[in-house]
Amino acid sequence: MSTLLNVCGTFVIVIGFISGILSGSFLGFIFGVIGSVVSSILFFALAKISDVQETILYRLQANDHSRDNLYYKEANKVCVSCDYRYNSTLSSCPNCGYRR
Ligand SMILES: [Zn+2]
Repeated sequence: MSTLLNVCGTFVIVIGFISGILSGSFLGFIFGVIGSVVSSILFFALAKISDVQETILYRLQANDHSRDNLYYKEANKVCVSCDYRYNSTLSSCPNCGYRR
């Protein structure tokens, strides 16, 4: 996703340069370049956001996985209140809070 956005940003800059040159005037060239650079900054920012979001999602999944290990891998205690299986080292049920 971020690669596509980076390609789009670069493409917008190239288009801006070409249209600026084709406009035939110096002012047209300046406005074409400035416009394309501003637009491409949006694309690059979106690419960065997309990268950061993927990192966050990955870390959330890793966090969920380690939590699952904590609660289910050594889940050898069953709650008498809600039948939830959880780690025997915990003093109360993480699902309903029942304390034996
Ligand atoms: Zn419970």
